[in-house]
Amino acid sequence: MESIPVNQPLLDGNEKKYLNECLDTGWISSEGPFIKLFEDRFAARMQRKFAIAVSNGSVALDAAVVALDLKDGDEIILPSFTIISCAAAIVRAGCKPVVIDSDSKTWNIKVEDIEPRITPRTKAIMVVHMYGLPSDMLPILKLAKKYNLKIIEDAAEMHGQTYAQKPCGSFGDISTFSFYPNKHITTGEGGMILTDDSRLAERCRSLRNLCFKPEKRFVHDELGWNLRMTNLQAALGVAQLERLDEFVVRKRKMGLRYRELLNDCSEIEFQTTETDYAKNIYWVYGVVLKDHVKADAEFVMKKLSDVKVGTRPFFFPMHEQPVFKKMGLFQNEIYPVAERLARRGFYLPSGLALTDTQLTEVASRLKTVLKGL
Ligand SMILES: *Cc1c(COP(=O)(O)O)cnc(C)c1O
Repeated sequence: MESIPVNQPLLDGNEKKYLNECLDTGWISSEGPFIKLFEDRFAARMQRKFAIAVSNGSVALDAAVVALDLKDGDEIILPSFTIISCAAAIVRAGCKPVVIDSDSKTWNIKVEDIEPRITPRTKAIMVVHMYGLPSDMLPILKLAKKYNLKIIEDAAEMHGQTYAQKPCGSFGDISTFSFYPNKHITTGEGGMILTDDSRLAERCRSLRNLCFKPEKRFVHDELGWNLRMTNLQAALGVAQLERLDEFVVRKRKMGLRYRELLNDCSEIEFQTTETDYAKNIYWVYGVVLKDHVKADAEFVMKKLSDVKVGTRPFFFPMHEQPVFKKMGLFQNEIYPVAERLARRGFYLPSGLALTDTQLTEVASRLKTVLKGL
């Protein structure tokens, strides 16, 4: 039986050629020419003025939150159902994460629950677009305007996606991306910060590079980090970006094919395929076990692993994280949709190199497992 990995990237464009250029010229550090090329092209593609390449999507969030110069105890609203990087960036910056439940169909932040949680201390909303479908930006932007809040947009799963024809990654005062190998384009490890604000861009550049003073190196007014991306990573990024449109088409096709093959499975439900503002680009292909199914995600994933199908669990909600509980955060908070997604959701092999034959095989093995429950 063929083993089908949960993710395999597609690296058969100009990746090798550009990497060889790095090796041939000796430019392998963050000083190399592919960095600016990648930043400029990525900014243009997402319709932003400034792009700052960093070493991953998590630190992109760290720098983005710190760059906003918020005060200790300022509150930032975000969905509970997301990756730890989002809440970690908020906590590390000395701010307080305030979490909201998700919509059971779109898996994105439940927009109508945001306004009641806004207090005089609320300074920003961290929007996290989920699994290929953007959050509903229009009402969120209205709230931001009404209450004078900043938008931090985590678009790590949204390369090439649009909200009402405008690129995801173009909505935040500051927006971030990840280029981990399971994202729509990859640099191995890597991330990007986007903004139209020259001051924020300068702050992020400085935070990326240890806050060296331009006029006096090795003298520091503030603590930064080394978040620099290497020229090798940026070379991959430039090659991958050339194919983004093609990749989005491919991912959409894969998502729709899975949906078609699994549509008659009464045991599982799916993320919304299409809304009036976007068509899903399926970062990964997630499925959620319906309530009448006795087994949980962990059990079904184990069964799939027995038949050599790679899977990953869904995110685990921020309000249930032991690390935050220990800090005294989220005491007695309950968000049923986030909790359900975490326990009943998992995703199937969805990498760009997945062939149609493999995809069909995954669907067939999943069906057999579900029938056997
Ligand atoms: C992948 C991801 C990140 C983190 O990116 P890394 O590059 O893995 O650090 C952040 N936010 C979301 C929503 C992600 O999917």
